Amino acid sequence: MDFNDSPAEAGFRAEARAFLERHTELLAPGETPPGPFIGEDPEAVRRSQAWQALKFDNGWACLTWPTGFGGRGLGPMEQVIWTQEELRYRTPVNIFSIGIGMLGPTLMKHGTHGQKTRHLRKMARGDEVWCQLFSEPGAGSDVAGLTTRARRDGADWLLEGQKTWNTGAHFCKWGVIIVRTDPAAPKHKGLTCFIVDMHSPGIEIRPIRQMDGGSGFNDVFFSGVRVSDENRVGAVDDGWRVAITTLMNERAAIGARGMTGFGPADLVRLAREAHGPRGKAIEDSAVRARIADFHVRSAGLRYTTYRTLTALSRGETPGPENSIHKLVGAPLRQQMAALGVELQGQAGAAMDPGYGAQAAWLAAPGMRLAGGTDEIMRNIIAERVLGLPAEPRTDKDLPFAAMRGNRS
Ligand SMILES: Cc1cc2nc3c(=O)[nH]c(=O)nc-3n(C[C@H](O)[C@H](O)[C@H](O)COP(=O)(O)OP(=O)(O)OC[C@H]3O[C@@H](n4cnc5c(N)ncnc54)[C@H](O)[C@@H]3O)c2cc1C
Repeated sequence: MDFNDSPAEAGFRAEARAFLERHTELLAPGETPPGPFIGEDPEAVRRSQAWQALKFDNGWACLTWPTGFGGRGLGPMEQVIWTQEELRYRTPVNIFSIGIGMLGPTLMKHGTHGQKTRHLRKMARGDEVWCQLFSEPGAGSDVAGLTTRARRDGADWLLEGQKTWNTGAHFCKWGVIIVRTDPAAPKHKGLTCFIVDMHSPGIEIRPIRQMDGGSGFNDVFFSGVRVSDENRVGAVDDGWRVAITTLMNERAAIGARGMTGFGPADLVRLAREAHGPRGKAIEDSAVRARIADFHVRSAGLRYTTYRTLTALSRGETPGPENSIHKLVGAPLRQQMAALGVELQGQAGAAMDPGYGAQAAWLAAPGMRLAGGTDEIMRNIIAERVLGLPAEPRTDKDLPFAAMRGNRS
């Protein structure tokens, strides 16, 4: 493991810092970078777009994207260095991780020349925000079981059905949707991917209210929504291949994010302020032992992240440790936030954005679901990392329409 920047990396870091110093300021001690966007505040969306445009215009957006699409054609290590530095500064909430992190790379791989030219630069500059329309009420982990249909209508397609948990759909201009085009084919084979204009007639977006009071994601209903065949991504009935590209990028993006947000240092600060039954909580050896345990586990995860960074820095592909980040990191974050809430006693029941423990605790269950649930991550590690036998998949070769519950 190599913890030091190479001279070139150090120079790049200095350049990144100089840009950030010029345009924003360092976070105050104890201040955490913004978490996921959970509100409906249009002003927060505008601030986020303005920051993205400033980065793009100065060459600090989409560093790994090819220059032709507005990137700089740099390596993943430069992207990691930029992200590390940006997280130290006061910047708006990031509303682009789905578009830029997942859907942009999907269009680069499977999109037509026209689609790439029309969309990628505007996406990279944040002028148009994108959402992912994959999950349905009956298809989440098993997303290939989806039932939203698309039927040919001349040069167009007509979409009918419902998607759910669609992050940011209420402020997005474009979505990437996977729909069923051939119910007679086995479930993975009759799917097609489209780009859909979220302002099309026939789309209804209903925000879902979350337990933290926010409303970051939505139910999206499609009633005869017309989509031109020009907006098809990949071949008809070959949408699963397109979806897999998006899902692989989703897991890599979540894994690479590492451990940010509420952590052991916040617990120490809270324990110094909080009163237990016998004085300050920090005087209680049981509290100190719990915080120390979290510190050790967080450090283990951080060093696992460094292994990934070292591989990237040497131009190698990171190994299976990338799958571990999310499976270990999300529950760890949930447990640390729970202790943060507990340390505040009765005050812990009140939402206090200053401490961040409540927000982290309420967001944690979602982090264990999004991008692959804990159980799905275990399946992936079991099958692809440890080489254990795959789960039996009895429906793999059956026509989708012949499966129980899908007969119309
Ligand atoms: C914060 C957040 C943001 C999201 N954003 C989006 C978005 O922008 N676009 C989008 O399309 N979707 C989005 N999702 C949806 C997300 O992809 C799904 O929640 C996820 O795939 C799980 O699907 P599900 O909720 O339907 O649960 P299910 O798949 O129904 O799972 C229910 C339970 O069964 C378990 N389970 C399922 N299959 C197996 C198996 N084979 N083996 C063992 N256990 C299993 C699961 O682990 C889980 O505990 C988001 C979700 C969250 C929490």
